[in-house]
Amino acid sequence: MTRTDEFERSIAYGEAALTYLKGNRTPAYPRNYELWYVYAAGFNRELNKAVNEALKRLGHLPEELTQRFYDEFLSPVRLSDRVGEVSTRVSRELDQIINLLEESGGNAESYGASLRSAADILGSAGTKQQIRTALEKVIAATVSMERYNSALEKQLKESRVQITELQESLEAIRYESLTDQLTGLANRKHFDQSLERAIDVAARRGEPLSLVLCDIDHFKKFNDTYGHQTGDQVLRLVGAAIKSTVKGRDLAARYGGEEFGIILPNTSLEAGVTVANQIRSAVMAKELIKRSTGESLGRITMSAGVATLRPLESRDSLIERADACLYASKHNGRNRVTSEAELDPSTSSAVA
Ligand code: GH3
Ligand code: MG
Ligand code: MG
Repeated sequence: MTRTDEFERSIAYGEAALTYLKGNRTPAYPRNYELWYVYAAGFNRELNKAVNEALKRLGHLPEELTQRFYDEFLSPVRLSDRVGEVSTRVSRELDQIINLLEESGGNAESYGASLRSAADILGSAGTKQQIRTALEKVIAATVSMERYNSALEKQLKESRVQITELQESLEAIRYESLTDQLTGLANRKHFDQSLERAIDVAARRGEPLSLVLCDIDHFKKFNDTYGHQTGDQVLRLVGAAIKSTVKGRDLAARYGGEEFGIILPNTSLEAGVTVANQIRSAVMAKELIKRSTGESLGRITMSAGVATLRPLESRDSLIERADACLYASKHNGRNRVTSEAELDPSTSSAVA
């Protein structure tokens, strides 16, 4: 493809992306634009399939879904590209080290050979001149071996620096793949993995494990009134409030759009309810000020549900029960915490 073709093609995708953004009444923020650009270009089959299904079902793509699709289909691609890049660099580095070591093996062998031939000459008591030549050869071989060794050492040191850098990149990628970018809390994937692990540990040690699910009240209205960006600012603030409440072994995650999950190892139902109420109070305590105008947007509230793991219970079942408690909080007027003991007192005895 010529540069002109490429130019024209990219402009056509860009124009199509803008048309889609306008048609869906979505702000042209870089992520939204990127999603529609990739859609127009058709680079990402899975993304196009999901978008087409949503369009068929809803007639347009709500911004909430745009964000979800971005996280699902575009962020991981970027991460896996980076993982691929790092692995290529790692294998290049390893190849280099293996070559160096092979070469060094060869050099040591030829040094050994020159020492052996010198030893033969010295052992057979040759002439003065022969001894002198043999010693000169040994000295020359030693000098070159020394030179070679220090070059090898330098190269190995450089490789070591490179490898440390690569390890850091991998660690950053791993961290990013488990973190929600908006709030800095754990993401859904991290939450699912951690809950699975926490359930195993609780079962093995016979410890209680509680789960809090919470959801911002009337967030849709807030978004519709003040705009999505201010909504995102609220999500960050709620994330910070949760972070300040949850410590140690507990894990707080952004579970969905405006839903959060907190895993509380070695925590009883009652203690879980206390944590949920602390989160609710911490969120409520913050008055929202619109950054651009200084205008007060009042306070937001949250509803929560708390459940404790039962013997042999699966992850999904625990989540479902905490979610039923959350639903009860919404149903009973919001801005409250419901524990499973309130929801169905007959089951509370099952909670050790
Ligand atoms: P309820 O009290 O019953 O929870 O009402 P709600 O309006 O909070 O609940 P609903 O689940 O109907 O709406 C959730 C809204 O959250 C939809 C969307 O506007 C908003 N939302 C979800 N994810 C995001 C996000 O990443 N950013 C922003 N700004 N808003 C989001
Ligand atoms: Mg909500
Ligand atoms: Mg919700």
